[in-house]
Amino acid sequence: MEAHRPGRLVQCKNAECRQYISIPRSILPGIPGSQDSWREAGETANLVCHECGQVFDYTGSPPRGDPSPKDDPYLSGVLRDGRLEFECGQDSCRARVVIHRPTQIGTSEQAIGDEARSRWRFVTVRCPQGHVVPCLPDSVDDYEISA
Ligand SMILES: [Zn+2]
Ligand SMILES: [Zn+2]
Repeated sequence: MEAHRPGRLVQCKNAECRQYISIPRSILPGIPGSQDSWREAGETANLVCHECGQVFDYTGSPPRGDPSPKDDPYLSGVLRDGRLEFECGQDSCRARVVIHRPTQIGTSEQAIGDEARSRWRFVTVRCPQGHVVPCLPDSVDDYEISA
């Protein structure tokens, strides 16, 4: 029997994990009003896997089906789009790197920051200009978390 998989999902690129990650609505293609949405198939977004902590860039694809609001964890009050953002800095690049962390409602920004420093591992993370970003900035003052 197929497990219940609400909302729209990508599968973790870590071959030893393959956990399903629920895609924040704000970065889905065709969802207006978000400045860094996947407006078109082929755009990428950086997502953290809550299971293994590995961070990859995922390519947008046209949504298959349209789950009803009650099946979407971002509309039904289960998850929200936790974000960690910083300036790229590669070759003096000023572009903002955004890491999306699908986050249970009630999780503090502090908890996301602690997890980021202790568990996240950047595998393929890219800035909007295409630079490969190897890791978090060293200083906590150099990134911002919102949840
Ligand atoms: Zn994973
Ligand atoms: Zn860059």
